[in-house]
Amino acid sequence: MIDLHCHSVHSDGTDTPEHLLALAEEAGVQAIAITDHDSLDGFDLAKAKSCEFQTELICGVEIGTHLSGCIRSVHLLGYFPAEPGASFRRWLHSLKESRISRNVRLMDRLRNIGIELTWEELHALSPHQLGRPHFARVLMQRGYVSSIRDAFSLYLSESGCAWTEREEPSIEEALSGIIEAGGIASLAHPVRISSDIEKIRQIIARLVPQGLEAVECYHPEHSDQVISQLLHIASEFRLRVTGGSDYHGENKPGIRMGWTGDEMTVPDELLESLRAGFDSRRIGADMA
Ligand code: AMP
Ligand code: FE
Ligand code: FE
Ligand code: ZN
Repeated sequence: MIDLHCHSVHSDGTDTPEHLLALAEEAGVQAIAITDHDSLDGFDLAKAKSCEFQTELICGVEIGTHLSGCIRSVHLLGYFPAEPGASFRRWLHSLKESRISRNVRLMDRLRNIGIELTWEELHALSPHQLGRPHFARVLMQRGYVSSIRDAFSLYLSESGCAWTEREEPSIEEALSGIIEAGGIASLAHPVRISSDIEKIRQIIARLVPQGLEAVECYHPEHSDQVISQLLHIASEFRLRVTGGSDYHGENKPGIRMGWTGDEMTVPDELLESLRAGFDSRRIGADMA
């Protein structure tokens, strides 16, 4: 079993990076990629502890991007054979700042509709990066909603009454950032972009010439039918396939590390394919 998509407390998960490794080991997961939003902090901390665990740790990140013509944020996963350097890290830092400024506006927006949250309540959930899932949990604690899902649909999502947009990098900028840092870019949970598979196919066709190398086919939000349609698209464009649980701990209840469905795990061979991609990167770099 492997899991190429999970989040630590350094983005919007509730587990420390070390605990993710412990959980993975306990669940028999051979390799995990920590793919925190806009941050390598969780990976860095896990890396320092990884020799204590059997589970292999892969360096990853998830970036919310803007794709022209698309209202919803398009998420890219980046996977790296070696840790990205200072310039990529500086770029990630600028993304974190855009989330902080969005959070301030979101707080104002909630206040305007009569919901007064405090930074203390939010920071009590996480001393690290704050994102909408933390707002969702505070809304739940205060009794405004009875689930995280309702917090998003009623308040925090694009259709919610406190929707507050975040300035995101263009998908082109994010693709070139990942590639220049030596990574492989995968389109995360494509069903979130559209329920129309043909639209997803057209977006993938647009992104491949810009450096998209993989597509996340296995994800808990993908039905069996969607998985097979995405596998087909991946093969049409000769893309690698990635997959993961998108584990966020208590911020996303009901998700088990390594599992993308009640009886569905992420296929082990995806790791081999990712490694082959890493190897081709290294060979390319040696020849340059
Ligand atoms: P942010 O980056 O702060 O805007 O928060 C985005 C995160 O919120 C995503 O990465 C998901 O973890 C979570 N999220 C987004 N939409 C939903 C939703 N409809 N239900 C539950 N969680 C969501
Ligand atoms: Fe998230
Ligand atoms: Fe995502
Ligand atoms: Zn994710």
